[in-house]
Amino acid sequence: MDIRLGNGFDVHAFGPGDHLMLCGVKLPFEQGLSGHSDADVGLHALTDAVFGALAEGDIGQWFPPSDPQWRGTASHVFLEKAVERTSARGYRISNVDLTLICELPKIGPHAAAMRESVARIIAIDLDQVSVKATTSERLGFTGRGEGIAALATAALIRE
Ligand code: MG
Repeated sequence: MDIRLGNGFDVHAFGPGDHLMLCGVKLPFEQGLSGHSDADVGLHALTDAVFGALAEGDIGQWFPPSDPQWRGTASHVFLEKAVERTSARGYRISNVDLTLICELPKIGPHAAAMRESVARIIAIDLDQVSVKATTSERLGFTGRGEGIAALATAALIRE
């Protein structure tokens, strides 16, 4: 069986705003996330995990932050491109696992909606998508509430 694994990691800092986009879900919050696109740290890590499994570079190469056409882009566009490349290469996504690292917002109440959103974007079943969360015990930049980090794994199987 031809299986490929990829990992992805991303960080975005909190900035001015009144909501966050996380895994394609809009969460009301006292701050926003800073970034060139919609700063959806979860979808960015997942996108990089898929590109990584394909050994096709990273999200910054496919969608350069210096390119104004990606300003404010909804990040499902990036993940959909990675999924498109997966199909083009003769693979399908077997499962993805995402860990969001932050003190706030609390992810638990929204995890189910995030799983559904990711499953919809990738076009896989809910039981192929995991969205988890942890804090960093108040240590480091996530612990100080300066932003959100995300870590993702994707497994691809040749069709
Ligand atoms: Mg990013």
